[in-house]
Amino acid sequence: MAKYIFVMGGVMSGVGKGIVSASIGKILQSRGYKVTAMKIDPYVNVDAGTMNPTEHGEVFVTEDGDETDQDIGNYERFLDINILRDNYMTTGRVYQSVIERERNLHYQGKCVEVVPHIPFEVISRIKKATRKAKADVNIIEIGGTVGEYQNILFLEAARMMKNNNPDDVISVLVSFLPIPTTLGEMKTKPTQYAVQQVNEAGIQPDFIVGRSAVPIDEPRKKKISVFCNVDKGDVISSPDLDSVYEVPLIFEKEKFSERIIKKLGLKQKPKDIKDWAAMVQKIKRSKKIVKIGMVGKYFATGDFILPDSYISVIESLKHAGAANKVKVEIDWINSDAYEKKPTLVKELKNYDGIIVPGGFGTRGVEGKILAIKYARENKIPYLGLCYGMQLATIEFARNVVKIKDASSTEINSKIKNPIIHIMADQSDKLAKNQYGNSMRLGSYPCVLDKDSVSFKTYGSKKINERHRHRYEFNNAYRDRLTKKGLVLAGLSPDKNLVEIIEIKDHPFFVGTQFHPEFKSRPLSPHPLFREFIAAAVKTKK
Ligand code: GLN
Repeated sequence: MAKYIFVMGGVMSGVGKGIVSASIGKILQSRGYKVTAMKIDPYVNVDAGTMNPTEHGEVFVTEDGDETDQDIGNYERFLDINILRDNYMTTGRVYQSVIERERNLHYQGKCVEVVPHIPFEVISRIKKATRKAKADVNIIEIGGTVGEYQNILFLEAARMMKNNNPDDVISVLVSFLPIPTTLGEMKTKPTQYAVQQVNEAGIQPDFIVGRSAVPIDEPRKKKISVFCNVDKGDVISSPDLDSVYEVPLIFEKEKFSERIIKKLGLKQKPKDIKDWAAMVQKIKRSKKIVKIGMVGKYFATGDFILPDSYISVIESLKHAGAANKVKVEIDWINSDAYEKKPTLVKELKNYDGIIVPGGFGTRGVEGKILAIKYARENKIPYLGLCYGMQLATIEFARNVVKIKDASSTEINSKIKNPIIHIMADQSDKLAKNQYGNSMRLGSYPCVLDKDSVSFKTYGSKKINERHRHRYEFNNAYRDRLTKKGLVLAGLSPDKNLVEIIEIKDHPFFVGTQFHPEFKSRPLSPHPLFREFIAAAVKTKK
């Protein structure tokens, strides 16, 4: 019989439920339990693929091609396992299946109702994902904040599961404890209200994880215990840390796994978290700084700059930093700025490496191309991810091969020299407005050229990487570009698709049609990021 842990959030969004869920998974895994984790998002979108990353954060892509919330990436990085499509659901996805089933007469004439049919569908999805992962424990993160209308049916599913199997289900409330500057004291009242909200949904949290700037002290733990109906030892302190990978270690100091195991009636098994602790030490001990400029466009919301859209790229850089014993400092550079003032691009001389990550549409494109030109000409290590590969190809065509109007049909559909163009099967989909889950998605094999930097970096000829794109390298231009020195370092096994480009006589210049960032893990940094940072260290002035 599997066990279930529901993780919900109180007080505000962004308290770090994803990291807490992933960390709970890690500590149970370190006790020898097989763990999986899933995310429930309350929005009506069927998946994250159609959402603007500035609003929702990164769209994470799974091995089997699902476009999910970025938290799935956190689970993969912490648990070092692939999480698949079954482990992600949204309100849209749940309703879609219930409605489809109703149309097929599955409910045999019954009145299909929001309650219980929607929570029943949620429960059946949770059980299916647990079965498929053959997990002893499934950690289910419910998106949003308790008390809002949107996630109430998911809380109802959690309540029903607990009611049916009280010994196999627990819940964790992740809450925020503010320290208002005017008071200078940590306040517990918002958490008390959050617990009342969970109680209203018929759930009593078994644990309260308190997120705060500093550790929760004894008097406040006592207060939360008294007013929120939990044992003092079940109030777990989760202060801000330099590295999120330290969270499982902090949890263990609070004996969190031991307490969870006891509550779930599982056997206490010996703990092995040595490799993880060593990795955290490596991250913390790295002092030498390498500066990376990330030239993108999904940063700004109002007056605030948020790097959330590129979270997997950022984490991959951190993993690569630890592997090279350096601390990677990242600056977010808005490519729009280079379009408005091209001379600004010279500021890139201050960086040891430049990344152009994935992207869509026309805004900011010319700014990115200017940045890539600067990296190529000034021999600054460059890593281009998806759009970053396509734009590097365009830059090369324009400035080296002298095809002045080289572009992508994504930027201008009427262009005479479409170096990058729409994939054969994609134009039909766009003509029919089929935007959802219709890109080239998920893992595909790629064969590397034996003389390439990529081959040396991966150390093998055949690799598998995750994709998310509609456009591709136009094969009609292969000869003209390679004659001038562009290296087609990786191709699809049928040789039809260019998956990696490189430039010779450069410390490191690699563009990938795929997204290596989705496969980097703290215990096994991605080779391309590792070598990119190694090149940045080597060329550092
Ligand atoms: N917009 C490009 C395409 O669809 C690149 C996509 C990406 O960067 N993920 O092909």
